[in-house]
Amino acid sequence: MGWLQKILIPFLGLVLAFWFYSARDTFKPEMLRGKRVIVTGASTGIGEQMAYHLARMGSHLLLTARTEPRLQNVVQRCLELGAASAHFISGTMEDTAFAQHVVREAQTSLGGLDMLILNHVGASYFGFFDGDVEHVRKLLEINFLSYVAMATSALPMLKESEGSIVVVSSMAGKVGFPFTVPYSATKFALDGFFSSLRQEFTIQSINVSITLCILGFIDTERAVRAAAEVLQERPAPRDECALEILKGAALRRRELYYRYSSTRLPLLLRDCAAELLDYLVRSRYRLPAPPGA
Ligand code: NAP
Repeated sequence: MGWLQKILIPFLGLVLAFWFYSARDTFKPEMLRGKRVIVTGASTGIGEQMAYHLARMGSHLLLTARTEPRLQNVVQRCLELGAASAHFISGTMEDTAFAQHVVREAQTSLGGLDMLILNHVGASYFGFFDGDVEHVRKLLEINFLSYVAMATSALPMLKESEGSIVVVSSMAGKVGFPFTVPYSATKFALDGFFSSLRQEFTIQSINVSITLCILGFIDTERAVRAAAEVLQERPAPRDECALEILKGAALRRRELYYRYSSTRLPLLLRDCAAELLDYLVRSRYRLPAPPGA
């Protein structure tokens, strides 16, 4: 009987407590109704799908990317799907002034901001690092510095609304990946900046959540074109990925893993068997035969 009292009952208590707290924490689309949201990189891919989900939930949207005709179509579709309002601004995130301008536009056209979704990504190559330092600098400006600039400009509005920052990152921002060295560097930088910022928010009792999204291979046109031939893995659907990001953001999760099985589970090896994890990452690729083989 002793073991029952010492082990089984506390264990059952823990299971029940876990179930109780996770059951309370469920997503409802109403959580995003009427919310004022910026989505960057919304002309295509995961950003476009997030815009459609938010539109169905009745959010106010400010969308941005470079390609104006695509943004026009996405805004039109968002209005048809039920967005409370939808606008766009086109421009490049290579320019920090443009990143700040988008945030100011939220103040003007939405009267404030509840959620900032940082999702855009600059073009890079898929292959061995070619030594081009200027490319790394340019990619840091698009994929990292513009995220920092937007989050910094948006902070006063987000503090007022007790809102959220969503940072779309990648497995390549948690563990070294071959063939995407500049891209990986920018994603690791996001983790460093936003995880540290989260700590400071906690210390200063700033009630703005930061959700870092760790994504695996997703079936967007760009990713499939770049990697489908070499990656031995089926990409996950972008519309489901977009919805999971929004759920994690609405629930104010610190990190979101999609898909869990190809991201969170392998990452458990990082601290105890880093070389095994590196090997597993490399084994996902159809590698070219070494010269002379
Ligand atoms: P995508 O389809 O290539 O879309 C990228 C978006 O960024 C587009 O709207 C693009 O629009 C915009 N963009 C590109 N360069 C820009 C610039 N200089 N200034 C402003 N906007 C720019 O990408 P995705 O696959 O949906 O990826 C979305 C996010 O998920 C990224 O942060 C990516 O790193 C992450 N992710 C994706 C995968 C995957 O397998 N797909 C895996 C892990 C992480 P314009 O060309 O019109 O500007």
